[in-house]
Amino acid sequence: MAVDLHVHSSASDGTDAPGVVVAKATALGLSAIALTDHDTLSGIPEARAAAAALPIVLVPGVELSVDHAKRKIHMLAYFIEPGPGPLQDRLASLRAGRTVRNEIIVERLNDLGYPITMDDVLRHAGGDAVGRPHIADALVEAGAFAGRSEAFVDLLSDGGKAYVERERLTAVDAIELAAQSGGVTSIAHPLTIGGDAASLRSTFGELRDAGLAGIEVSYSEYPPAIRSQLAAVAAELGLVATGGSDYHGTGKPGLEIGTGRGDLVVPDTALEELQARRP
Ligand code: AMP
Ligand code: ZN
Ligand code: FE
Ligand code: FE
Repeated sequence: MAVDLHVHSSASDGTDAPGVVVAKATALGLSAIALTDHDTLSGIPEARAAAAALPIVLVPGVELSVDHAKRKIHMLAYFIEPGPGPLQDRLASLRAGRTVRNEIIVERLNDLGYPITMDDVLRHAGGDAVGRPHIADALVEAGAFAGRSEAFVDLLSDGGKAYVERERLTAVDAIELAAQSGGVTSIAHPLTIGGDAASLRSTFGELRDAGLAGIEVSYSEYPPAIRSQLAAVAAELGLVATGGSDYHGTGKPGLEIGTGRGDLVVPDTALEELQARRP
């Protein structure tokens, strides 16, 4: 059977409620999914309650935006339980950093002639991790753009006209905090780090030495040749080849849970290997 180790819900910027995500994953025949909302575990209790009545395993997770050597990385942390803990406690300050950043983005947008308010943004957020996708939703509602992606192009993407940085952990801190919380980490969509194959490989090696467990080899948006190359690097470095769809509901049209754009298959062994690396 297959799993999906990268799924978002309305607890962050996905559009399906956590329980709906679990029900859909079960209907699609998956044996397990990891709910990996951005900077929050608030969807886990609902997802877990839904999974308890269904033949599916729910892995509690979170996706973090981190820095390493001046590059931005998305880090997936697995087996992180809601409640107090080393990584859990840091999530609250990361979410507070989002609030400050979102307000500045809205001010910039107002200066650029888009008259949206924080209330407009918050109406599109279903949970406690509010971000640029919800700001994009407010812009779409105001009639300024056709969809989220269009709002990102000039305004909200990194370096865009209304882009504002926010507080991030370093990759090494994220790996260590996750381990202290009983979890393991994998680099999400590793090509977004940028650079050539040699520099990617050395980044993976550095972070493996810091305790990284895996890299996301099977990612919806990666063609078969990239997935094979990443699998080879993971094997060479002794990293687990993880995978996931990065499902966001209607927030990323055309992406399905489990199968991504139709050709994604993440084997059960990916989750078993992550389990085996738990501290
Ligand atoms: P934030 O977490 O507030 O910094 O927003 C980043 C999130 O926005 C990413 O994790 C994606 O889910 C989403 N995102 C980034 N680029 C785009 C895009 N071009 N179109 C739609 N969503 C995007
Ligand atoms: Zn997202
Ligand atoms: Fe990501
Ligand atoms: Fe994601």
